[in-house]
Amino acid sequence: MKNHESSKIFAKAKGYFPGGVNSPVRAFRSVGGEPFIVKYGHGPYLFDVDGNRYVDYINSWGPLVLGHAHPAVVEAIATQAARGTSFGACHELESELAEVVRGLFPSLELMRFVNSGTEAGMSVIRLARGFTNRKKLVKFEGCYHGHADVLLAKAGSGVLTLGLPECAGVPAQVVTDTLVAEYNNLESVQKLFDQCGDDIAAVIVEPVVGNCGLLVPTPGFLEGLREITQRYGSLLIFDEVMTGFRVALGGAQALYNVTPDLTMLGKVIGGGVPVGAFGGRREIMELLAPLGPVYQAGTLSGNPLAMVAGMTTLREWSKPGVFEAAQKTTQSLVAGLKGCATEAGLPLVAESVGTMFGFFFSDHPVRSYRDTLTTRKEQFNSFFHAMLGDGVYFAPSAFEAGFVSAAHAGEALEFTLNALPAGFSSVRV
Ligand SMILES: *Cc1c(COP(=O)(O)O)cnc(C)c1O
Repeated sequence: MKNHESSKIFAKAKGYFPGGVNSPVRAFRSVGGEPFIVKYGHGPYLFDVDGNRYVDYINSWGPLVLGHAHPAVVEAIATQAARGTSFGACHELESELAEVVRGLFPSLELMRFVNSGTEAGMSVIRLARGFTNRKKLVKFEGCYHGHADVLLAKAGSGVLTLGLPECAGVPAQVVTDTLVAEYNNLESVQKLFDQCGDDIAAVIVEPVVGNCGLLVPTPGFLEGLREITQRYGSLLIFDEVMTGFRVALGGAQALYNVTPDLTMLGKVIGGGVPVGAFGGRREIMELLAPLGPVYQAGTLSGNPLAMVAGMTTLREWSKPGVFEAAQKTTQSLVAGLKGCATEAGLPLVAESVGTMFGFFFSDHPVRSYRDTLTTRKEQFNSFFHAMLGDGVYFAPSAFEAGFVSAAHAGEALEFTLNALPAGFSSVRV
């Protein structure tokens, strides 16, 4: 596979950006080698500057549920751009996107738009602390909620991939109120509440974890979190930045029928343009400025390009049958991964929820961060490179989830399924 142009451009980027990138996982450090440089995206494919084509199972890390450059989204952005790209003032598109979002997530009685999942995370924590007048937070090992200081304890893939135990630059006293429990282990949560339940403002969780590979909640886990938080007057926060519109149109809260007090959204909500959101119960949200004393703001928040990209994407994605078809494509991919791994004699754990999927080279079930530590990362890395060489781009880390779009059905899926046997047979047992 040619990579001459990519190599040249990446070398130049290293002169401008630490590691040559603007977000660490893009640097391929975990899998080795150098990243390809994207020229353009089209439907389920990415094309690089050397003319190589890849079936893209990252989709910008989740947002592109319709694939790259969907015509309706492109047109909506172009039309809006001609009318103004930012107002810093009220406009109607904000309520239009909010209406679509609340139609799918009725628990967001009120919401606020921000520019990223990270912003949603830092704001929602401030709000939860302001509402409860408590300071402690419970998060889970392996869950990522953006790179705000208070949430960077044991924070999943980005940090995991680089093998960083904790993050330099985060003073210990900033995370002393961040308590860490084990995902899928209610006892570990109850233990923290036994110790200081009256001081816990909130439990924050990725209801289906996508930042530690894919971890699926065991039956009763999310219900248990709802029950414990209610018992102690703490808030339950679902970080649905990744799962929102992905595991089901209404997110994990619809799929598992557990209603959190507050929800974070991001990724899909902006259809490939930067947007995040948080929202939930009215009485909590009314504490935000300008109604209440919890300050939160954003120059570009509610950006009109982002509003139209998000709403056009969500309207297409929620048309009858579209989500279900993409879910079926995801299931076929996972069945292919399992079948081909078995034929190659490789133990593989592969799962999907809606249009998110994940796989581990492992002979034991993977239900928590700790379980991921004993999966076979070297096998993943050689599989990753074999597939990339054949034109299939999975996430460049053993600890990231994958994403399927509406555009992957048909040719892109067939191409992938045909490439899998060679990919697995190149992995050393
Ligand atoms: C991606 C992600 C975030 C952070 O969102 P950014 O837009 O990258 O800041 C937060 N939480 C979860 C669950 C995510 O997957």
